[in-house]
Formats: sequence, structure tokens, C-alpha cells
Amino acid sequence: MPRSALVLAILGAFLLASCEGQRGSHASVKSSVEYELRQIHAIDNHAHPMKAVGQGEEDHEYDALPVEGIPSFALPTVFSEGNPYFPQAWHTLFGYRYSDSKPEHLAELEKAKRDLAKQKGDLYPSWVLNQANTEIMLANRVAMGRGLPSDRFKWVPFADMFLFPLNNESYKAKDPDHDVFFGREEKLLKGYMANAQMQKLPVSFDDYLTFVSHQLESWKSGGAVAFKFELAYLRDLDIGNPQKENAERVYSIYSQSSAPSDDEYKMVQDYVFRHIAHEAGRLGLPVHFHCALGAGSYFRDATGNSLALEPLFNDPGMRKTNFVLLHGGWPFTKESALMILKPNVYLDFSAFEYFAYPSQAARDIRLFLESAPEKVLYGSDASPWGGDVGWEETAWIGSNNGRQALGLALTAMIDDGEISEDRAKEIAHMVMRENARRLYRF
Ligand SMILES: [Zn+2]
Repeated sequence: MPRSALVLAILGAFLLASCEGQRGSHASVKSSVEYELRQIHAIDNHAHPMKAVGQGEEDHEYDALPVEGIPSFALPTVFSEGNPYFPQAWHTLFGYRYSDSKPEHLAELEKAKRDLAKQKGDLYPSWVLNQANTEIMLANRVAMGRGLPSDRFKWVPFADMFLFPLNNESYKAKDPDHDVFFGREEKLLKGYMANAQMQKLPVSFDDYLTFVSHQLESWKSGGAVAFKFELAYLRDLDIGNPQKENAERVYSIYSQSSAPSDDEYKMVQDYVFRHIAHEAGRLGLPVHFHCALGAGSYFRDATGNSLALEPLFNDPGMRKTNFVLLHGGWPFTKESALMILKPNVYLDFSAFEYFAYPSQAARDIRLFLESAPEKVLYGSDASPWGGDVGWEETAWIGSNNGRQALGLALTAMIDDGEISEDRAKEIAHMVMRENARRLYRF
């Protein structure tokens, strides 16, 4: 390395270090805990990685409900333009040399990113995982793709579309976001029906349920490790326990004709959900719920509250299925800390880097750790946010801020005499990977 480059590198490292120092919280993680956390090759419980694409090729399968389809929306300030995490991520991943986001600097960044992706080819997604010190990422995608090898990326497909086989016009009429979301769910269901050589819905409800079961089984044989519901984006999470004959009656009338009432349709949805959850238990795959505030300006925040799921968790018939509350139900974290006391309920703190700075995230994570540390999973929710923030940056920021928040939570617990330093290190390994290994049997 030429001397001038070395001086620049040292200066850059110093500037970054002093920036982190100014933020304050980083320095207060106990050094032994921080050291331990940095050694762990994480299992990321929830993310939306992009496949490797050729020139002119695009990837639209990273989410069943990509936010690109809905009008712009607001996020808490931590993730707004000008936050210090973006330049840090760009620096680490792509050698970005600036602390601002001036257009000419971003043009340089885009070129560096493009060149690197081209140079790495199919190895690019795994390279991103290496930068985020992540061994395995659960890939919540409609389908897997090139450059997402099964030893590094474990598939989590979406199952919501099966709950909405009837006329969805009243949902679509709610607001522009629901219009986009239900349009996508209908398209996905049509696609799966076409694959199964079905021109239209089966006349019999049992035949429809069999079609759903076959799809779940084929996902499992295709490598799926869990099924994901984004139900909170579509309707309330209070899942009832309807009689089969009632759901069957509504299905048989309305699968062939006009629209059911909201109450009637809910019976079909709830019954199909329970069918899928039972099947998930039989197949040994956990069920993931989006559980937190949601993207879009019409998201009903109350549906992000994990307490709405308590009747489902309390159903003895559901105890063979494990459930995972993604995003810790944020900001209803106290409620989620309670829910993980149920024997078959887990949570992750994915997406916390979008919701809160590490110091606040640490307070929420501490609640979880004080409740049931063996049920808490690390996650990033790495996703393409558009512009210059892709799944690469959010994977890195999620890993960086996630470890920092976990370190702060553990440090506070040591300082308050709740746990020993050794126990803190043990919990760090449990949360960053061992709990996930046990849950998914990797
Ligand atoms: Zn997600």
C-alpha cells in the first residue's frame, strides 16, 4: 500500500472511530461482551436478500408485498436521509470515502457497487453475508434464485394468498395501499393455481385445502424452513376458530359467484389460516408473522400488536406449531415479551435498525432477554430500500446496530447485577445463532 493511501486509511479509521465515539452508546458496551459479539457468525432470522442478476435483469421476488408499489411513506428519523449509518455502510462495503450523500459522491458509489456485483457474479450475495458476519440468512422471498445457495440462504415463502381466494373488492376499496397489496396476493394465488393446472377455484372446499397442503409440501421439499404471513398488512390479526361447515358453506357459495360479507369471508380466511398452521406443525416448520408497525401510510398499527395473537397461541390445538413474531412486535415490545412466555412462541428483533437507534433498541431487547432469552432471535430485515440503500447496506447496518443494541442490553443487565459476564456471553451466542439453530434444526 503506498504511504499516502496508508495515511488516508488510518485517518479514515480514526474519523470513523471518533464518529462512533461521539454517538456515545457504542463505547458503553462492555469490551468483553463486544469482543464476543463480534466473533459470532450470525444466523439472521429474517431478511429479503436479492438474487444475482444479469445485465438488464430485475428481481421482484424479494417480497410478496414490495413497498416499491405504494406511495411514499414516513419512517422514524433513525432511517431518514442523512443518518450516519449509510456512509458507514457504504465505506465498509464499497470503499465510500465521504461522510455526506452529495449526488456526485453517490454516482461514484453506484459505479463501485455495480462493478463489485459484476466482478463477484453469483458469489455477490454470499460476499454480502460475509461482510455482515452472517453465516446463514433466512431469505423471505416468493422464490429463491441465482446466487442464493441453500447452505447460506434458507428459504421462507409467503402464505397469505391462500387466505384470500374469494372476491377481494371490498378490501381493495379500503385505500390505495390495500388496492396494491390485494392485487399482488391475487396474482400470486393465480400463479400457484396455474402451476397446479387449475383454471379456477375447486368447487369443493376440501379440494382447495388439499391444493394448499400440496403447495406447502412442495415448498418444504424445495428447501423452505418456515412459512411467512404478512397478514397485518391485509387485515386484523385476531384469528378466530370457525366451524368447518360454516367456512365450507361460505366457500362453496362465493367461490363461484359474488362477494361474501366481511364476517362470512373472515370465517374462510381464519379456517384456511388454521389449516396452514396445523400443516406447518405437521411438517415441522415454524410460522412467521409480520408483527410491528408496517410500511405505507394506511397500515393499522394496532394490528402490529402481538397481543391480538394470544387466543391463537392459547389454543391447545396449536401447540404443535411454533410461531415467530418478526420485528418483536415493535413498538408493543412489552406485550411481545409476555407472548414469548407461551411455550411455542419466539420473536426476533429484525428491522429494529429502521425503527430505533441502538440505545432505544437495547431497552426493548432487554425486556425480551429478561423474559425468555432462549426465545429471542437476531434478525436484520435486510431489504432493498431503493436509491442507494440496498439489502447490502441494511444487512450490514442490521448486523452492526443489532450487535450494538444487544451488547448494550447485556451490559446494562451485568451492571445492574442481573447476570454474570459469562452468562451475558452465553446469551449473546444464543441470540445471534444458537436459538435459531435449535428452532429450525439446522
Ligand atoms: Zn421483512
